[in-house]
Amino acid sequence: MNKRIAILGSTGSIGTQALEVISEQSEHFEVEVLTAQDQWELLVQQAIQHNPNAVVIGNEQHYKNVKDALNPYDIKVFAGSKALTEVVEMHTVDMVLTAIVGSAGLSPTVHAIRANKPIALANKETLVVAGELISTLTLEHKVPVLPVDSEHSAIFQCLCGEYENPIEKIILTGSGGPFRGKKIDELQHITKVQALKHPTWTMGQKITIDSASLMNKGLEVIEAKWLFDVDFDQIEVVIHPQSIIHSAVQFTDGSIKAQLGLPDMKLPIQYAMAYPERLSTSYPRCDFAKIGQFTFEKPDLQTFRNLQLAYDSGRKGGNAPCVLNAANEIAVRAFLQDRIGFLQMSDLIETCLEKIPFEKNITIENLIETDLETRAFAEKYLN
Ligand code: NAD
Ligand code: MG
Repeated sequence: MNKRIAILGSTGSIGTQALEVISEQSEHFEVEVLTAQDQWELLVQQAIQHNPNAVVIGNEQHYKNVKDALNPYDIKVFAGSKALTEVVEMHTVDMVLTAIVGSAGLSPTVHAIRANKPIALANKETLVVAGELISTLTLEHKVPVLPVDSEHSAIFQCLCGEYENPIEKIILTGSGGPFRGKKIDELQHITKVQALKHPTWTMGQKITIDSASLMNKGLEVIEAKWLFDVDFDQIEVVIHPQSIIHSAVQFTDGSIKAQLGLPDMKLPIQYAMAYPERLSTSYPRCDFAKIGQFTFEKPDLQTFRNLQLAYDSGRKGGNAPCVLNAANEIAVRAFLQDRIGFLQMSDLIETCLEKIPFEKNITIENLIETDLETRAFAEKYLN
């Protein structure tokens, strides 16, 4: 029987690529649930094409539009954030792909794990905010978490067959983004148009800005810590502008395994959905001779402070990564609204980390509180 997938955030960059994968591999997968926050027209179009059992529109103002448009079809329509946490629990859902952006992904992911649903995890913010609690919960429920993030998919693939062998080091690669090699004075007057032009990947706006500021790599360091149960000292970030080596693992004998491929998110999306199988595809292949060379550099932590802030808050633990994430979400939104400059994003995040009270012991509930408190503080600081 086909695997029935619930795609949370189906109208986004990951969501739409997941639907392409499902269309290509229709003898393996089908769509059970689709959800979107605001883009109701695209949600309706996707629902008509893929015929899910249910859809959720997050923004309740669009409920009537979606309901009316899908009236002729046998598709259930729900609205609001609570509905998101309910649809993942439906007994007809075999896997939940979390492709929502930001900490809004946390609650539905928790509900999906509690309902014993395997997770294909794109929403890295969930592991940044609550990595420790999510890891405990997935162990408790014996729920597999298959990474969709290309670096983490690479690491996961390197670890296949190495179950008994300890990891010495994870080598997390990153393209360096559009401003690689630039110094502070050159970043003063960066515009959002420049920051939204990623050299190798096409993605949603928030992660594209995160990639330009290296916060994406910082979030990925914390994501890797929880997915692979290593210390922060065992995660090394290396800049690899060609984005072909998606990441690597070094074992205790000094040997390094890496996973390579063209930068195309459909590959890790499909791998997570099909694991442990590899399904054949017709996508373009990687030609080493054409690429010519692979290069590597150390990241510049003085210029791109976000990566250092992420390491620091990850090491600190407790609610610090939650503060980092919430402050960053507000900073990115403010940058996209031309309310702050590119470098001021790190200032805002650092201030939030200093001012929001630190809590060592955390629960999902008080992390949600920290998230709200940080957002409110950050908004006030900006005004
Ligand atoms: P996107 O902005 O393109 O799409 C986000 C989706 O989430 C949309 O469907 C939107 O409707 C929904 N959404 C937004 N806010 C919501 C809310 N408050 N409640 C419910 N739904 C909401 O984002 P994306 O680039 O597809 O990224 C999604 C996630 O995947 C992010 O966590 C990102 O870090 C991660 N990721 C993305 C890529 C990529 O190539 N795009 C790669 C690796 C990881
Ligand atoms: Mg990534």
